[in-house]
Amino acid sequence: MSRCFHTHKGTTRLSPLLPSHSCKPRLASTTAAATTTASPPARNLHRARARVTMAAAAAAEQGKAAVGWAARDSSGVLSPYNFSRRAQEDGDVTIKVLYCGICHTDLHIIKNDWSNAMYPVVPGHESVGVVTDVGAGVKKFKAGDTVGVGYFVTSCRACECCGKGYENYCSRMVTTCNGIDHEHGGEVTQGGFSDVVVVDEYYVLRVPAGLPLDSAAPLLCAGVTVYSPMVQHGLNSPGKHLGVVGLGGLGHVAVKFGKKFGMRVTVISTSPGKRQEALEHLGADDFIVSRDPEQMASAAGTMDGIIDTVSAWHPITPLFSLMKPMGQVVFVGGPTRPLELPAYAIVPGGKGITGNCVGGIRDCQAMLDFAGEHGITAEVEVIKMDYVNTALERLEKNDVRYRFVVDVAGSLDPDAA
Ligand code: NAP
Ligand code: ZN
Repeated sequence: MSRCFHTHKGTTRLSPLLPSHSCKPRLASTTAAATTTASPPARNLHRARARVTMAAAAAAEQGKAAVGWAARDSSGVLSPYNFSRRAQEDGDVTIKVLYCGICHTDLHIIKNDWSNAMYPVVPGHESVGVVTDVGAGVKKFKAGDTVGVGYFVTSCRACECCGKGYENYCSRMVTTCNGIDHEHGGEVTQGGFSDVVVVDEYYVLRVPAGLPLDSAAPLLCAGVTVYSPMVQHGLNSPGKHLGVVGLGGLGHVAVKFGKKFGMRVTVISTSPGKRQEALEHLGADDFIVSRDPEQMASAAGTMDGIIDTVSAWHPITPLFSLMKPMGQVVFVGGPTRPLELPAYAIVPGGKGITGNCVGGIRDCQAMLDFAGEHGITAEVEVIKMDYVNTALERLEKNDVRYRFVVDVAGSLDPDAA
């Protein structure tokens, strides 16, 4: 899992799921033309404003008017926001956003859980849309193509990680929203809860024909975040036993990928009410309630690996006893409170623990192609943008089966019905 340590509010805090980068944002061309103001907690933004450069202002002037919904402070409440996207360059693709999933990471960011929010924040990193324009140097895409944009929009493409296809671990990787785009004057990036995005073609994914666009959108983050470590750690072998902790946005697609890989899949959940759906609809083989010691004991020593997708602090020691010797737990969730791991949980049995942050571009395309071939999509509740604050409240309360997706074009496009 990529991490960075920022000093904010006088303390050094771990900001999970983020690349390490300079903490010196400049006012983005995406924010330069903002017509609304941030509220007091947005100290980063005020610092950013102080660093406005002629270059950023000029970029904003040449940019494209955009409309989105942004959080202004750690209340996380979103409201309409007008801003300017950076101008399309030769290697860029301009995309009209159709749908964008709501990932729990969006919630962490807008609530400033990781102490790194640079308000105003337009969230959204599970976008699917249609190409409306391409730069002169673009080779992979043309107007009319159906594409997706995931968790990040650039990286250095020169380091060892980028060379190996792990752009997600590049130290200069820039997240799709709330990132600092060093290649464009230090702009603060704004995400897919907006009508248009401009992205280097290298970081744009092709969405396979046949996948419904609303339920395919969550694959751009949730899908690759579980698919990539499953493939990397051999948790994609037929007959192996996979445990999935947390049946939310990430967890439910992990179940679907696991079953299509031919694995035995057991859901480990705090919500007994999800049992029937997990077994009958998502195709899981077993469902155990993590807070029930008897159910946990019944599965002891049976699993080859576990993927833990939980967004909040939870006891992890019991998970290790579910695994066979040398089994591996992959953590992908970003709880703010540190998890507790006694050595005795991993020393006997030589068990392993690792993290994972989304996946590289190659893995993301492979995941989409696999999903297209096997008909894998997320279970979604499609909403209009004016419901987004209620949806965020419900996501926080674990009240969604299993991913909210915003009908962005249907909400923001004045020509839409
Ligand atoms: P989500 O839809 O809210 O799902 C999280 C699930 O965790 C819930 O459905 C719930 O499942 C379980 N859970 C919630 N609170 C819990 C608690 N207090 N104790 C135990 N279990 C609890 O969230 P998501 O979008 O799947 O994201 C999950 C986490 O992964 C977030 O922290 C997010 O930031 C992170 N994430 C990481 C990456 C990455 O690249 N590493 C990418 C995307 C998201 P049950 O009801 O089944 O218990
Ligand atoms: Zn995400």
